[in-house]
Amino acid sequence: MTQLQTHPIRQLSPSVINKIAAGEVIERPASVVKELLENSVDAGATKIEVSLEQGGAELIRLTDNGCGIPADQLELAVTSHATSKIEDADDLFRVGTLGFRGEALASIAEVSQALIRSRTTGQGTGFELVINGGSREPIAPCGMPVGTTIEIRQLFYNTPVRRKFLRTTQTEKGHIAEAFTRVALAHPEIQMTLLHNGKTIHQLPGTESWSERIGEFFGPEISDNLIPISSTNGEIALSGFVVNPSVSRANNRMQYLFLNKRYIRDRSLQHALSEAYRGLLMTGRFPICFLRLRMPFEAVDVNVHPAKLEVRFQNGGQIYSQLLSTLRNKFLTTDLTAHANLNQRSIQPISADRPVLPPVAQQETIAFQASAPSRDWTSMPREVVNRSSGSTSDTAARKFDESMFPQADSTPAWNSPESGNQEPLQHERIERADSAHWQTGKAAPDPTNLNQRSLALQVHNTYLISETEEGMLVIDQHALHERIIYEQLREKVLAGKLETQGLLVPEPVTLPPTEAAAVLEQSNLLRKIGIVVEPFGGDTVLVSSYPAMLANHNPAEMLRNVIEKLMEDSAKLDQRDLVDELLHMISCKAAIKAGDKLTPEEIDTLLEHRQLCQDSHHCPHGRPTSLVFSREELDRRFKRI
Ligand code: ADP
Ligand code: MG
Repeated sequence: MTQLQTHPIRQLSPSVINKIAAGEVIERPASVVKELLENSVDAGATKIEVSLEQGGAELIRLTDNGCGIPADQLELAVTSHATSKIEDADDLFRVGTLGFRGEALASIAEVSQALIRSRTTGQGTGFELVINGGSREPIAPCGMPVGTTIEIRQLFYNTPVRRKFLRTTQTEKGHIAEAFTRVALAHPEIQMTLLHNGKTIHQLPGTESWSERIGEFFGPEISDNLIPISSTNGEIALSGFVVNPSVSRANNRMQYLFLNKRYIRDRSLQHALSEAYRGLLMTGRFPICFLRLRMPFEAVDVNVHPAKLEVRFQNGGQIYSQLLSTLRNKFLTTDLTAHANLNQRSIQPISADRPVLPPVAQQETIAFQASAPSRDWTSMPREVVNRSSGSTSDTAARKFDESMFPQADSTPAWNSPESGNQEPLQHERIERADSAHWQTGKAAPDPTNLNQRSLALQVHNTYLISETEEGMLVIDQHALHERIIYEQLREKVLAGKLETQGLLVPEPVTLPPTEAAAVLEQSNLLRKIGIVVEPFGGDTVLVSSYPAMLANHNPAEMLRNVIEKLMEDSAKLDQRDLVDELLHMISCKAAIKAGDKLTPEEIDTLLEHRQLCQDSHHCPHGRPTSLVFSREELDRRFKRI
């Protein structure tokens, strides 16, 4: 007998119905915060404070100065399918509020210990309703100003499986911060505060200026690079900002799209965005944007997704084209190159660390990348000596400074106060490499060799061709360098001997909330690979220590890359594989690139290190680093034999 046959059909109790609904809408503390914030916005609040304890798992308290809930409707507010926002089915197709289903409070109260206090302008006092796991206590009066305060304690206390699924405090806090960010970006005019365990994470004054609010969250890196756009097509108005392609991300999480002041995700519009940026970003990079769409409520169905994150447009195609053409026109009339160059100049210390030696065709795109780390720095001048010296002309040599090849007895000096001046060190290194070869006569000058003094010939600024006993070797310069760095890093990490350097001035890095949370949560793992991070308030973390080997690379950017990788892989890999993945990624970023012109000394240093590699034949991703053409094969091909 199957289960179906043994059990009759029953009407489920309201409590079970609510728990099922809660399962759909309330996934984690951040969902509660999202729903409560939306209610406050719908209630016309101009001031909202959210206070959390333990990532919201212990307590979420939200206070607003909105219209309040009349005492005689308090119980109804926590009843499922009870709402003041729509009346009939037709209203569903002209929803002008964030909420409309009337199930959030009921769902939340079913799976927590809830307290709701509310007072309307018409009432001389507030009223309070306590609900434990859906069971209500009698309403009682309480003193309070006009508005609503809702406290949600012990979320999921009566659905233990759910509670068990909660992630760490940091992670949950990160999700909440993201939910908070979305509402705060949609409503810059509302004064909003977010506190966690008594500490202020965000304190945002209400503002008319959207860019100001954007800056509050993402700092000058973003707010200095906003490009305003706006267009109207019939009843559809598009406005907001796209971000200069010099700043991009490895995922699309920083694409903030608001429809009638509701945060939404929309694949088609994300696609339009990528199309508009095509050619302006390297592959694998995503644009950042803050866009507002306004259209009549009837032109969109918001009732298609449990968390109301996705919507269905009546005329999606038209909106797609409008977004694409608005951005394309904007980019055509905006001098992005000049902008990127300007940034580069203002951040000379960093661009010096990240040499730009692209082939002409790629110059523009790569220049954008190179200027990316600028904004974090302009606000906080570094006292790191070698970063503030040098021009782009000697940058190729910089890449090969000894920090990259630590067995050359190096003291990466960019952040050690005693060393004073990095510049001589670097020259010394280059000269040493130089003289080593010439004095030992390792590479006899061959007048027919275009690369004169070098052990190999560089072609297309990408491959190195060298003579070996057996024949001829063609090396992929990036793949080989990546392999060398990877092996050195891995060896040091495994031996627990990775040298790190404390930064004189720790580098603040502002991240999206979920990433900031992930960074802090994984701080032990990061420490293993030499990156020490500390919380700095809000979504900013401080990088206070950094692998000495990577001294020439911008810590903020490296951290961003690492964290993006972490977010992708941490769920599917164990610690060791994760460390390995991160080392791959770091090596890849730190290695010279295809297209970098190398000096003879650099070519020789690279070849010398090739000898020391355990597996010099493959890059960490498994691609070959070199191809061998045997003498015999050459002879055969030239029909000598
Ligand atoms: P919905 O928002 O879909 O209507 P909810 O369960 O979130 O459903 O809320 C139920 C009702 O409670 C709302 O329709 C609104 O009238 C009232 N309400 C909830 N939160 C507040 C608040 N902070 N201020 C004023 N009224 C509120
Ligand atoms: Mg609601």
